[in-house]
Amino acid sequence: MQRDLIIGGEDVPPLTGDYFDVVAPESGRVIGRVARAGALDVDAAVNKAREGAVAWASLAPAAREKVLLAAADIVAEQGEALFLNNLIDESGSAITKARFEIAYTVDLLRTAAGEARRLYGETFPNDNPQRISMVFREPMGVVAVISPYNAPLSLLTKMAAFPLAAGNSVVIKPSEETPITALTFAGLLLEAGLPPAAISVVTGFGSECGGPLTAHPGIDCVAFTGSTQTGIAVGIESVKHLRPAQLELGGKSAVLVLRDTDPEAAAAIVAQGIFTHGGQICMANSRIVVERCLLDEFSAALKSACEKIYLGDLRDERTQYGPLINQRAVEKVLAQVEQAIAAGATLLTGGKVLRGLTIEPTIVLEPDRSLPLWREESFGPVASLVAADDLDDAIAIANDSEYGLSAAVLTRNIQWGMRAAREIKSGSVHIGMHSFQSNALAPIGGYKRSGLGRSGGRYSTEEFTEVKWVSVSLEAGGR
Ligand code: NDP
Repeated sequence: MQRDLIIGGEDVPPLTGDYFDVVAPESGRVIGRVARAGALDVDAAVNKAREGAVAWASLAPAAREKVLLAAADIVAEQGEALFLNNLIDESGSAITKARFEIAYTVDLLRTAAGEARRLYGETFPNDNPQRISMVFREPMGVVAVISPYNAPLSLLTKMAAFPLAAGNSVVIKPSEETPITALTFAGLLLEAGLPPAAISVVTGFGSECGGPLTAHPGIDCVAFTGSTQTGIAVGIESVKHLRPAQLELGGKSAVLVLRDTDPEAAAAIVAQGIFTHGGQICMANSRIVVERCLLDEFSAALKSACEKIYLGDLRDERTQYGPLINQRAVEKVLAQVEQAIAAGATLLTGGKVLRGLTIEPTIVLEPDRSLPLWREESFGPVASLVAADDLDDAIAIANDSEYGLSAAVLTRNIQWGMRAAREIKSGSVHIGMHSFQSNALAPIGGYKRSGLGRSGGRYSTEEFTEVKWVSVSLEAGGR
């Protein structure tokens, strides 16, 4: 099926006249053709969004809440029919991951709806008792939403719903790998009653469509989730125009396995934290740091957990993950593993392609910590496993990264857990869990090269509103 752009709520053919194929990573089948937008299409979308911004922003909070709640109800009732097959085909999601995304989308839309009523201002003291100072929060105007391929529904929802709740219009540029999910998402918001001019979707490629969108003078703010490399380019472009960009970028999260942990239980948690969606999760715990006294027992338990991972049909509920998004991603992961092994690391398990774009669950013991396998994002089903002498050493190893998105500590000792939580430099730390955790209210974001700003609940609406100081003099003729 061929899909046009959505501009101001209408299906509009691209001015470029071009379309491109969307390919399912598991089957290699073409599942649709979508418009390949260029700079003129972006221009049309942003201009339309500027028209929509005023009308949407001037609606009462209750009216914005109503639209987002209606959207949540549509997903709750029809989410499987609308999204399930497409999430499996377009992004190679296992059915359990696709269902998680749909359920989380309902949660995010409801949470965002609530935020529409909570754009609190404040007052603050003034030394002159005849003067009153207030702070208002106001929508920014038009937010460019540039989203990645790995969780194309739930991440897009998080990135678009909170700015909308705050009264902004959005122009969405989804990943070229997963544009169909974004078009369906926009359709459901329109069905829920979003004014047409408040949402547009420009599908296309990063350089041809994402670049012009980021650089467009009609954009007031950018919400970007993706790789650190692209995020830096988007951030630089935003600064050139002196407008804010909320950047959620890559990760290389550590999970600490401390000496008091049950090795089997820890192995199951760690495996889930790295192999969910084949490691294509920004918060995947791709660095496993185990106290040396537990290393042999834990390694054996993790190897056994990996060997039990079922990788069958994506529609089989037992299947834990499927293919990586494309051949380039597979080659990157395999090259990182091969290089680490060639430099002296031990392959504990995995290391090969199972079929097509699916790589076996892979664990590499003690890689050289200067190599890309340790230092760079793999975004595949591979983790490094290293030993630490004690808690201090484990924390130091966790902090030996340019990234700082999430971290986890497996221990029953809350003092050890809290020490690690205080000392690890990352946007979140989870004790007794793996590092991939979601909560629609939580501030998600990173230290260091993992990003700028936070998203989720009120943290999002704060990012996507301007703060204005208003003061009043009660004196006649006051200056
Ligand atoms: P990319 O950085 O490759 O792409 C992200 C988005 O940016 C895509 O829509 C892409 O379009 C677009 N883009 C590419 N070039 C430009 C440009 N010059 N200007 C504007 N936009 C551009 O990320 P991936 O899609 O590969 O997603 C995986 C990455 O996302 C991983 O690094 C992962 O860690 C990160 N991520 C971070 C999360 C977080 O919360 N911190 C959550 C999920 C993922 P196109 O697809 O056409 O290239």
